[in-house]
Amino acid sequence: MEIRKVKGNTFCIDTGMTYIPFYKINNEDIIMMDSGWAGGEREEIDELLEKNNFKVAGIICSHAHIDHIGNVAYFKKKYNCIIAMSAYEALICSSTTNLKVYYSSQTLSYVTEHFGHMVCKTDIMIWDNQDSINVCGIEFKILHTPGHSPAHICITTPDDVGYVGDALISYKVMKGAKMPYAFILKEDLRSKEKLYNLKCSKYVVAHKGMYSDITNLITDNIDFYKNRAAKVYDAIDGAMTMEEIMKTVIKKWNISVKSRYKYAIIERMLRSYVEYLNDTGRIKLIMEDGFLKYIK
Ligand SMILES: [Zn+2]
Repeated sequence: MEIRKVKGNTFCIDTGMTYIPFYKINNEDIIMMDSGWAGGEREEIDELLEKNNFKVAGIICSHAHIDHIGNVAYFKKKYNCIIAMSAYEALICSSTTNLKVYYSSQTLSYVTEHFGHMVCKTDIMIWDNQDSINVCGIEFKILHTPGHSPAHICITTPDDVGYVGDALISYKVMKGAKMPYAFILKEDLRSKEKLYNLKCSKYVVAHKGMYSDITNLITDNIDFYKNRAAKVYDAIDGAMTMEEIMKTVIKKWNISVKSRYKYAIIERMLRSYVEYLNDTGRIKLIMEDGFLKYIK
């Protein structure tokens, strides 16, 4: 794990898996953009910050996924830092009961045990009509890019560095991803289009890229997700239930599903592609023999 300079006072922590950008207010105080994953990254991020004598003054969250907000509550407790997040996602992770909106197929006790550490208190709610926020006296620009998650945002630092979070994935991730996640794929693709108008001098993609120009990356991301949707379309033969589509996709794409957790993730991932095909009129949802089935 190391710190890399992006531009001016904007740096990022390279966790190996993720870039976590931060903005240096002065030699000591920093504002992080996301906080990393608790499971595999907390200890090392913590150590790295301490080694550099950094204190977390604020955290602006791109979205409330486990690998992005995993350490928010931890740092809030340690540094009493200001937390800013889009209002809807802030409400989702304000309690385990609300978190169940994300993990609807899991029981409340499972959610509490595995995702309870995501519960945090947000100080600054970012509303849909806001295109900037002030955290610790520093102004950041906000671009609303819903789709990957319900209220995902991109954050631009005063150095004109655009952090696009998970609104885009890098080429390396595209190479390895069988089914990249979107909460609502149709919205996500619209948000990706929006990014053509985000003019910054540098861009940081959470998993994991740094670019001076993202025009081609946006086009390639859009093509990649659409191509995955086309592959799901190819897997649909006759009238199939969601579970039957899932069974076919798991087998065809050689996806290993060995835990309840993985099953739930794959199901959520697949659902957004199936819904996208339904949303765009390529498949229909019908009722057959008392079951909901998808048909071309
Ligand atoms: Zn995410």
